[in-house]
Amino acid sequence: MENQTVKDKHFIEWFHELFGYCCYGTSEEYILQALATFFECCRKIHASPSYNYEELEEKLTPATAWLLIQIFADNNIISYGTSPRYAWLERRGILIKEFIEKHSIDDLLKMIDIDEKFSLCGTSFCNCDSYEIEITCPNPLFKNSKVSW
Ligand SMILES: [Zn+2]
Repeated sequence: MENQTVKDKHFIEWFHELFGYCCYGTSEEYILQALATFFECCRKIHASPSYNYEELEEKLTPATAWLLIQIFADNNIISYGTSPRYAWLERRGILIKEFIEKHSIDDLLKMIDIDEKFSLCGTSFCNCDSYEIEITCPNPLFKNSKVSW
């Protein structure tokens, strides 16, 4: 991919790590649109952007809203106090929100459509230097990463 930045690479890897079972153009657009809508509903009211589940349910459908909440809570993208009905974005979530908001869905679709020459990293393997299984990739969007963007 031409003019790919480090942040692009991190997003591509994060997307494929969490939503990688959607190859070849069948479902990517739906998922990216749902992600864009989810993060659009996360507004900065207090310290960190947060959502109200009722708005998520209304804009995404309840099933999609709650499936994303499950995935994002499990990946340290959101945190909550007493209930995930109202949650806020963790640092990782803020990075993803900012990245998605800077791009159109078309741009993101082109970005994640990678060919086999692209060496992806994942949460349990890293291709940054050479292929290493069990090595934590420094991609800050991975839930086990301690590196900031
Ligand atoms: Zn890596």
